[in-house]
Amino acid sequence: MKLDELIKMSNDYGANSNYVLAGGGNTSVKSESKLYVKCSGAQLATMTSDEIVEMDRQKLNQILQKQYSTDDIVREREYLVDIMSAITDSNKKKRPSVEALLHNLFSYRYVLHIHPTLINGLTCSKDGKEAAKRLFGKDVLWIPSCKPGYILAQYCYEQMSEFKKKYGYTVKIMLLQNHGIFISADTVEEINDLFKNIEAALKKEVKKEPREEEIKDEKKEKTAEFLTGIMERKVIPVYMKEAGEYMKNTETVQPLLSPYTPDYIVYCGPYPLYLEDMNDVKETMRNFERENGMLPKIILVEGDGVYIMENNLDKAVRAKMLFEDAVKIVVYAESFGGAKPMSEELIQFIVHWEAESYRSSKI
Ligand SMILES: [Zn+2]
Repeated sequence: MKLDELIKMSNDYGANSNYVLAGGGNTSVKSESKLYVKCSGAQLATMTSDEIVEMDRQKLNQILQKQYSTDDIVREREYLVDIMSAITDSNKKKRPSVEALLHNLFSYRYVLHIHPTLINGLTCSKDGKEAAKRLFGKDVLWIPSCKPGYILAQYCYEQMSEFKKKYGYTVKIMLLQNHGIFISADTVEEINDLFKNIEAALKKEVKKEPREEEIKDEKKEKTAEFLTGIMERKVIPVYMKEAGEYMKNTETVQPLLSPYTPDYIVYCGPYPLYLEDMNDVKETMRNFERENGMLPKIILVEGDGVYIMENNLDKAVRAKMLFEDAVKIVVYAESFGGAKPMSEELIQFIVHWEAESYRSSKI
């Protein structure tokens, strides 16, 4: 199997921070009998042939016919065993992307799954579903927010089968609420064209673009140093001007208090800490830790700004990228009725989902 085109497509989309960040997104190519899918924890931007897992398509199809436990944790464990047993790769150490089963559902050769900021402005918005219907009609299948992994694949299987019955062909584009986009076609060129069309149509709808402008601020740098000292963690300030606009008061900060995508939860934690002032900051953080089982990674300070706190600089920089991405999603979502966060049930599922902690441990 020639994987060159798959690798090139993955690297091209992965290199663009507007399309995917850190270890997010995944891609695949298939033959009649095999699926070649990105392994979990690899980055699209740097993906090589060593980070692609070969899988048996028939075995993947059989997973959809199985009955699993109704308990989330038991079901995901049973599902993982079956996913792992579908691997035919000689290297047994690699674990396929959590979305491998979904890739297999498409009848077309290539699949691209990414989390573009602009597209998530739509998928994380209150009017997203209606706007998608109005703009793309039956070219796009809208998948409501649901638990990733087995439940998502099963739901997509049902929806895709229904679509096929109705229109006579397999859908090529799926928009996943609070998540991202799947595009599938027999050639990479067609995937590129379909993606460009979606992007162009959304750009026309956007009334306000997020501003990337940064303002360096010595005071914030000092605060970050102070927090680094007292918390013994790496704290870095966010200089993005747009983010600062939300820090005016308890009302303006609301859109940034909840997560919009699984990626955000994986790298920034489910909830930020909001502080009205810096009094007793250490004690407040310890209280947060007691309540949430972890220290906050995102610290929002009223009238001041945003700080990222992590174990080391690399992790802090990654969390900062995901936080800034969330700010941009919120701004884009204003053009589609305002931002709509994930449900509490879904947030808790992702926090406790073994597959995501595996992914974040890799990158
Ligand atoms: Zn995804």
